[in-house]
Formats: sequence, C-alpha cells, structure tokens
Amino acid sequence: MRRAVVVCVAAGLLGGAPGLAQAPPSDYPTVAVPITDVTFTDAFWAPRLETVRGVTIAAAFKQSEITGRVKNFEIAGGDASGAFCTRYAFDDSDVYKLIEGASYALATRPNPALDRYLDTLIAKIAKAQEPDGYLYTARTINPAKTIAMAGKERWTNEEESHELYNLGHLYEAAVAHYRATGKKTLLAVATKSADLLARTFGPTGVRYPPGHQEVEIGLVKLYRATADPRYLALAKFFLDERGNPAGHKLYGEYAQDHKPVVDQDAAVGHSVRAAYMYTAMADVAALTGDLRYVTALDRIWDDVVLRKLYLTGGIGANGAWEGFGPAYDLPNSAYAETCASIANALWNFRMFLLKQDARYIDVYERAVYNAMLSGISLKGDTFFYPNPLLSLGQHERSPWFTCACCPSNLPRFMLSIPGNAYAAAGDRVFVNLFVQGRARVALAGGAVGIEQETRYPWDGDVRIRVSPAKAGRFTLAVRVPGWSMSHPLPGDLYRDLTPVRDTVTLKINGFLVPIRLERGFAVIAREWAAGDTVDLHLPMPVRRVVAHEAVTADEGRVAIERGPLVYTAEFVDNGGRVTNLVLDDQAPLAAEWRPGLLNGVEVVTGTGTAVSMRGGSPVSRTVPLTLIPYYGWAHRGKGEMEVWLARRADKARPAPEPTLASASTGSSSDGGKGIQGLNEQYEPAGSNDHTTLYFHWWPTKNSTEWVQYDFPSATAVSETSVYWFDDTGQGECRLPRRWRALYKSGDAWLPVETTDAYGVARDTYNTVHFKPVTTTAIRVEVVLPEAFSAGIQEWKIR
Ligand SMILES: [Zn+2]
Repeated sequence: MRRAVVVCVAAGLLGGAPGLAQAPPSDYPTVAVPITDVTFTDAFWAPRLETVRGVTIAAAFKQSEITGRVKNFEIAGGDASGAFCTRYAFDDSDVYKLIEGASYALATRPNPALDRYLDTLIAKIAKAQEPDGYLYTARTINPAKTIAMAGKERWTNEEESHELYNLGHLYEAAVAHYRATGKKTLLAVATKSADLLARTFGPTGVRYPPGHQEVEIGLVKLYRATADPRYLALAKFFLDERGNPAGHKLYGEYAQDHKPVVDQDAAVGHSVRAAYMYTAMADVAALTGDLRYVTALDRIWDDVVLRKLYLTGGIGANGAWEGFGPAYDLPNSAYAETCASIANALWNFRMFLLKQDARYIDVYERAVYNAMLSGISLKGDTFFYPNPLLSLGQHERSPWFTCACCPSNLPRFMLSIPGNAYAAAGDRVFVNLFVQGRARVALAGGAVGIEQETRYPWDGDVRIRVSPAKAGRFTLAVRVPGWSMSHPLPGDLYRDLTPVRDTVTLKINGFLVPIRLERGFAVIAREWAAGDTVDLHLPMPVRRVVAHEAVTADEGRVAIERGPLVYTAEFVDNGGRVTNLVLDDQAPLAAEWRPGLLNGVEVVTGTGTAVSMRGGSPVSRTVPLTLIPYYGWAHRGKGEMEVWLARRADKARPAPEPTLASASTGSSSDGGKGIQGLNEQYEPAGSNDHTTLYFHWWPTKNSTEWVQYDFPSATAVSETSVYWFDDTGQGECRLPRRWRALYKSGDAWLPVETTDAYGVARDTYNTVHFKPVTTTAIRVEVVLPEAFSAGIQEWKIR
C-alpha cells in the first residue's frame, strides 16, 4: 500500500586496486584487503556466503528471467519482441547488481557455468545499448511509448526515471566483472555509456542530478579502473549539482536535494538514496581531497548515530518515504530496509577508510550482523524488504518483490564482506572483523599472512597468528569493539544498563600486555616473526541495553545483546506470544549453545513474567524466556517477535481474554488480505495505525465486498462493532461508502434488524445494536469508495 517509491544499493570497495590502469593521484589513506586475499573458514559467515554462491545468486537470476528483467534487454536488443515487460524502469539494475555479485563469486572461485552465463547476459546487455552508448531498456524498447516514470525524452524526468541510477549499478558490475575475469566485455559497455554521460552532463550541458543516487559510486569505480578523469569529475559534478536551484528545480528532502551536499547536516529523506550519497561523498572526498564533504559527513554521521539509528544498525524509520524520521523517532514497526542497512555499512566502511577509526566498524558490524542479515533467510532463497523490531505475526520473507532491490543487493554485498575484514595503511595492518580464516596483507615492507582462530560471534576469544614473509617491524591494529567496553554505540542513543565487569585483555605470544587504544584499535608496534600470536579476549556477557529517554518507542523497555548480536524474543520459543512478556532488570540471563537451532546459535535464557487479562484485570505468571539472535527470526512460522521487551508490567500488552470474535474463523470476499487482523485483538491506536494487524481489500476499489465470522457453534448475537482502517497519506484505503451486517439463516444471508445508523467514523469503533439472532455466521458487507479501497482494523461481535 505504500506508494511506488524506489529503492536500492551499492557494494563494498573491493579494496586494493588490482587491475588499475594507473594509481589515482590520491585516494583513501587506507587500503582494504581485497576479497581475493581473504578466506573465511568459520562456522558463521563461511556457510552463509556459500549459500549466497550456491542458492541466492541462481535463484535471483532465475527470478530475473521469470519476471522479464532479462527479456527487457532481449527486446531492446532486437532479439525478442514486445513491450517493456516489467513494472519499473529501474528493473535493469537488478540484473547489473546480480552480475556484480556473481563476479565476486567468480573472483574467489572458478565456476565455468556461471562465467558462461554472465557472458550470455552481457552480450544481451551490449546489444540493448544504443549506438551512442545510451542504455535504458524502458526507453529503447519503444521510445515513442515509455512507461510514465521514464519520461518522454532522455534525461528529462531524472527525478524519477532512474536512468542514471541504473548506470551506477552497471558501472559497479562492469568493474567487478573485469577484475574477476579480466574480460572487458561489460567494461566496454560501461565506458561507452559513461562517455555519453560525460558528453551530455556538465556545467554547460544537462544539469539534472540523479533522483536516486548511485551513479556517483559507479563512476568512481569506473575512474579507478580506467584512470579516466572525466568519470571522477562527473561523480563530483552530480554531487555538487544537488541542492543547486540554478541547475534544476530541486527534488526536495526526499532525494537529499534540498540544499548543497556540503551544507547538509542531518540525515533526511529516503534512506538508501541518502546513504549511497554519503558513500559517494566519502569516495569523492578521498579522491579529490575536498574536506568540505568530510565536514558534512561528520555532521550527518552524528545525526544518524546519535539520533536515527536502530539498535540493529538499520536506518529509515518511516515506510511512507522509505526513510529517516525526525530525531529519536524510532518506532519498532521500523522500515529499516535491507538495502538501507547495506548502504549504511558501505558508508561506514568508507568512513573507516578515511579516518581509521574503529567506531565506524562498530556501526558497520551492528548493521551487518543484525539488520542486514535479517534480510535473507538461512536457506538464502527468501528475503525481507523492511526489517522491523516488532512483529505481531504479519511478517514473512518472500522469494522476490516487484521492486526487487533488496534480493539483488544482498549477494554483491555479502560476498564483499571478506573485503571489509582487513585493511592496510603504511606499515599498519587493521583487523576490523573477527572471522576465523586467513588473509594476505600487502604492506610496504612485504606481505604479511594473518590467520584468525575464533568462534566469533558466539565467543569473544580471538587468536591472531601473524606470518610476515620476512621478520620485521610493523604495526598490528586490532579493533576493540565498543560493545566489549560497555559502549554499544558511540554517543548516548543506546547504553548498557550495567557496565561489563570483565575486561578486554591482550596477550602476545602468551604474555599479557597493556592495551594501547588508538581510535578504537589496540595498536601493537613491534618486530614480528612468523608464528607470533596475539590473543584478544573480548568479554561477551549477556548485556541489557536501554535507549535514550527521547526514544519514546523504547521507553520502559530493554533489549538484549551478546557480542555483536542483538537478540529478540519470538513467539515460537515463548508460549505463542511475546508482547505480553515483562523482563525484570534483576532477572538473571544466561547464554546457552543450541547446535540444532537455526543452524546453531547461542540462545539467551532466563525467567520473565507473562501478563494476561482474566475477568477484566491483568494477571501475571512467571514463565521461562528464550531469546534468539535477531537475524534468525521468522524462520519458524508467523507470529509475534519483539526486540524491545517491557521492563515494567504497564509496558506489556496483556494477552486478551478469548471472545466470540477471537474464537471465530474469519474469511472474506476475493482479494481480501490479512484476515487474521480482524480478530487478533490488538487494539489499534487509530484508523491509520500500521503497528497492529489490519485487514484490507487493496487494490480493489468501487465494489461491494464482505468479511465473515463463522462461529464455533450457533450463538445468539445482538451487537457488532467495526473499527475501519484508513491510511490516508500513505496508501489508498479510506472509510467505506456504507456497510451493513447480515446473518446466516439456512443458506441465505439476511440483514439484521436495527434502527441504529451504520457509522463510518474514523479512529473509533462503529457499533450497531440489532434484534438478537441465533446463527452460525455473520457478515459485514462493505461498499468501497469509487476511487479507493477500504479495510478493517478490528471487528468485534457480541
Ligand atoms: Zn531494497
């Protein structure tokens, strides 16, 4: 029901610069160790990445074929006929993103079948490109009749067309494919396209910046791969045209086009667009030395991390614009789009490259282990678009979406995670992430092999074995995560309820050494010889976290963390409900390894209180609690899930007493969705409340529809109350034109006898009393508005 706004994201720096035509004059002071030089052998990430290689990429390519995304290229290239056959003009980008992900798979392990498949796809893309380099199937297929968002002419509807957005993903894919295979097939398509942009856009040419940022990131990668300075200049141009009313009519805050990027000081609008832009600003700052971008990024980063970041690392509180809300507005219905978590990680990794400060990796780690990972199932074939911190049972991962930005984004991001684990600068090796495996780090003085042995994220003990090619002096900088020192995040948005008592320790070759902390890294400068070991001990107790008092959604609530993982309570482990639970601050909590659960997880167990209504009053009883890592929710059916548990009874939602409605079986006329919303007994705060379950007929309009309760047995009833759903401002459901109640008599449906008016008031129950009837089923018949649909928050019967 949200409006068709767009979405989508970019992948991590592959790091290093293999294949560079020539080194850029300046770049980040830190070089990430590329994915080709890092191998994960752990039990957490390695299997997940294997699933991405073996399942996700193939499934997403298949979806791209089934849905017509690939066919669009065939039609545009003349190898098939028909009209543009998908919904959105940005659907081309999904194919590009998957090629990028597949290229990372090829870069680290040969796969001839995948390599050949990419060749055939790339040939189709090349054929779809117009002679002058223009590539956009939504126009090329039939320039005289494009879909509305494409605009009538090239580049004239850039606010919505995604012409440039698509190309950003094309460029990222092209560079990834070139580096993985050495083939220039897609790179040639990309440079031909970018050359057209360089001829078209500029201070004396077209001056529209992209409506959805991304081309800037792609252009920077293309610049690094080709050393063509026009591409970097164009990336900078697109950034600098934002918020410049001399060049175009501003798109506004939604697209971060309300003021020049260097003057921006708060995160606003669509969160994926925003974080892609911040990512590109960091890149352009590194390459041009323009510190004004960095100053702006520092202000914006503070705004996000101090005021607008979910505990899970997700960003974007509001689904209406898929983006940031005001400061501290963090409802647990959370949008937190999977792509936005990816974008947040991309941005924070670049901030680390700029500043060599571990706090950026703290944010990266939080987003990646929690909000991002929730976006993909353990089997790798179903996905979440939003990633809420509270569910009443309405959420379920899906194999694909009409707007498929998230499924196509995950492979390229996840396969680039090894490229974020280590970095180098001068004689310094950075260990950012703790993942068992090995890496080869190129330092000025020669290569250094690094090996990690650890059960992280389940255990905080990490052994790092250092093997320089030849013994010598260099510096090892090992990240000490904020959470291990009672700072879940920089700032005061979240804090530990009680400090971690255990302390971080460091041993070199078995001997305890004092920790010298520099910007969040334990820095060890010494002569290293092959086989030297560093043992890092990160205390990993179960921690209680509370939010800043201004976050009203989390007031009186507590969240559980252990190590980098946020935990959550899910219905299946806790007697069918969790929103009625209370976790007392003093109740002891313990971690426990469950090898058979969710591919092996540490759960957190303890004792809580469950609140239920009995005879009109809340009663409490003591119950065992089990919490799982947040990323693992929604794998065992649909039901309640809650990250922020009540600390006090008044914050719990007592389990309601059974009613005739809750005991009835709901059904509806065709097209009705969310039938359990009728009688799940969550009281809505208003007609536009999206936090409780609701029923609706959208997109059906202008017709007569019905909902029905079948009773367990014939029952006498005399009253019905309907609370209408109305999402004015967000969707297309409105109050109905009129309605009436009918009861079942034999095979017939008869209207109830009443003199009451059938009300259509907003934000309240509309109650009708009628002459008592004894029946087995009752219906509400609803006449939908002419131009809108309708829905029901809750339906009661007495
Ligand atoms: Zn997305």
